Amino acid sequence: MPSMIPGLERPAPVPNELTKPFWDACNEQRLVLQNCTACNRLHYPPAQKCSQCGAADKFIWKAVQGKGHIDVYFVIRDSRIRGFRSAQPINFAVITLDEDPGINFLSNLPGTPPGKVPVGAAVELMFEQTSSGQMVPEWRAI
Ligand SMILES: [Zn+2]
Repeated sequence: MPSMIPGLERPAPVPNELTKPFWDACNEQRLVLQNCTACNRLHYPPAQKCSQCGAADKFIWKAVQGKGHIDVYFVIRDSRIRGFRSAQPINFAVITLDEDPGINFLSNLPGTPPGKVPVGAAVELMFEQTSSGQMVPEWRAI
């Protein structure tokens, strides 16, 4: 699946023991977050213990729809990160999940021209493939 952003070579995440369920779900085009069953709080990025109640063994992976809104954004024009250089300028938007406004993701907003980001607009979840074949979550304005 070619990236929707010309020139972008997305960094391939390297799953570890903690993050593997998250990345495995992405490969099935599902977004799952840790949910603490002690205090019913979602977590991202994956954590060893709940940041709200401190429970270390109460996490279950919960599927979320991934709908959200664009909170704020910036445009990268001079990154030295290989993979981004040939795609610059490129959007980096902070996405706030509707299902839990305390959860944020970064998105390059495929399909939205750099600097033309509709702040506050609704976004929906999509997935893009990295060089390793690992799928990563992305968002697009709707
Ligand atoms: Zn908790």
